[in-house]
Amino acid sequence: MSDDAPIRLHRSSVIPDVGFVHGFPERAGGVSTGPRASLNLGARWGDDRANVTENRRRLAAHAGYDPDQLVATRHVHGTAVWRHGEPLADDAEFDGLVCNTVGPVLGAFAADCIPLLFADPVARVAGAAHAGWRGTVGGVATNVVDRMRELGSKPENVRVALGPSIGPCCFEVGPEVVAEFTAAFGDVPGMIVDGPNKQHVDLRVATRAQLEQAGVLPEHIDAAPPCTRCEADRFFSYRRDGREGGVHMGFIGLT
Ligand SMILES: [Zn+2]
Repeated sequence: MSDDAPIRLHRSSVIPDVGFVHGFPERAGGVSTGPRASLNLGARWGDDRANVTENRRRLAAHAGYDPDQLVATRHVHGTAVWRHGEPLADDAEFDGLVCNTVGPVLGAFAADCIPLLFADPVARVAGAAHAGWRGTVGGVATNVVDRMRELGSKPENVRVALGPSIGPCCFEVGPEVVAEFTAAFGDVPGMIVDGPNKQHVDLRVATRAQLEQAGVLPEHIDAAPPCTRCEADRFFSYRRDGREGGVHMGFIGLT
């Protein structure tokens, strides 16, 4: 994968073009090498920070924002949501972010986990979150909607795009994980599917159920992204490549 390839953004039609900048970058178009080739946007797994900085600069230039506008927090598979403007320590850990001002571009990192982008074009509020299975079971998506409500959002106006993430095709889990999902969501059709060996969880189905429970309209949820583990030429995947691989970053901001 050469580093002069163009950046490619997976985008969702539920996020309005007017009033928001958003995207889920694929892996092409950056300067990182090896299993991180090439648009690795995360610095925690050992890539040269200069590579990550250059990749973030290229992404910002492509998307039309200034790299200094990016606001990101350390994700810990938790459910806490930070509102832009609240104090933020350097070691703060938040898996969700919301804002209602023009300027910040919120980033949500993921490599198989779901990067979630939220947009309310009526109250003019944006949100981003990282949701793996723990965050999904814990309700991080619901927490983002709750914090958007604090900023004036009505759930029926909130649009939510699920970014490229591990699909039900590849997300094989143990019975203890299946039990967590069943305890959290009940018997949601399609959430647990039989695989060749163990059962698989469909994180998208669980996320959609959670968002609808929170009042988001079904037609405002885009829950059919590509599978990161299946498409190695387009996406990084933790299950496929481990920490040698790269990390994606969905982004959204008000314009
Ligand atoms: Zn797959």
